[in-house]
Amino acid sequence: MNNFLLSVIVPVYNEENNIKPLFDRLFPIVKKYSYEIIFVDDGSTDKTVNTIKKISGKNSQIKLISFYRNFSHQMALSAGYEAACGDAVITIDADLQDPPEIIDKMINKWQRGAKIVYAKRQERQGESFFKLGTASLFYKLINFLSDTPIPSEVGDFRLLDKTVVSYLNSLKERPSFLRGLVAWPGFPTEYVYFKRDKRFSGETHYGFFKMLNFALDGIMSFSTKPLRLATYFGFMSASLGFLGIVYEVIKKILYPESFVTGWIGLFIAVLFIGGIQLMTIGIIGEYVGKIYKEIQNRPKYLIKERINI
Ligand code: UDP
Ligand code: MG
Repeated sequence: MNNFLLSVIVPVYNEENNIKPLFDRLFPIVKKYSYEIIFVDDGSTDKTVNTIKKISGKNSQIKLISFYRNFSHQMALSAGYEAACGDAVITIDADLQDPPEIIDKMINKWQRGAKIVYAKRQERQGESFFKLGTASLFYKLINFLSDTPIPSEVGDFRLLDKTVVSYLNSLKERPSFLRGLVAWPGFPTEYVYFKRDKRFSGETHYGFFKMLNFALDGIMSFSTKPLRLATYFGFMSASLGFLGIVYEVIKKILYPESFVTGWIGLFIAVLFIGGIQLMTIGIIGEYVGKIYKEIQNRPKYLIKERINI
């Protein structure tokens, strides 16, 4: 039953005080299996890399890939998937917000046939009301816009079968929103529930604007409906404008002595049309930008150093 290889991928960015506590909790779980732990250092500038090197010096199953600079969490995960050899591949955050103790349950569900096992948050501690609210709004929005159902309350803590990993590795596009890419093919999916703790040490790397950009990236990669919405907005405002003209003309005929008053109405109309135009150009621009990035086809990340791998 346990004759398979388990890969655990840990993306790390300035997590010097979390590596050792994470390893101490992760190791007793994974050592029951054949395992490899792949730390992907996303250009840390603190002692993260040294701490990992100390651990991997003693154990060749602890591996390290280190980037030249910060390429983003999604790219770090992607590098991990490309390097992992496991039959089952788990991605887990370094800050102990994802409890390693539920890995056994995830493996159990995988052995019973699931190709994807998500760890789903039942409760979240130490997250602001604002983060929870915006996250829930985001999942409602993306599921409304996208044709791929994307599970909510699910982060990047998941187990993937090697078939899913090789599907991910075969994709030509830049993986800006792995959660969507994982959900897209509709592989058999299972859930394991957990309580998400506070960060063990340090601060989140996802401030408001980074979250917003991540959310927009997710929406743009999984839906072209914003373009359609832009068309509808244009149509709506043009219809409103047309009704306004008809109204004024009829008024002029019926009450010739009345005259058009009020520059405020004019001002509002200009703002309204201007706003819609800018928004529409912005939406188109987002997609053009995405196409531009794809055709530039630059490497997703650059590896400075590999250890045990
Ligand atoms: N991370 C990364 N690159 C980044 C930002 C974050 O590899 O540019 C890693 C980070 O070290 C952690 C995981 O991604 O292991 C999740 O990040 P964080 O805890 O800051 O996000 P949150 O849990 O607040 O969403
Ligand atoms: Mg975290």
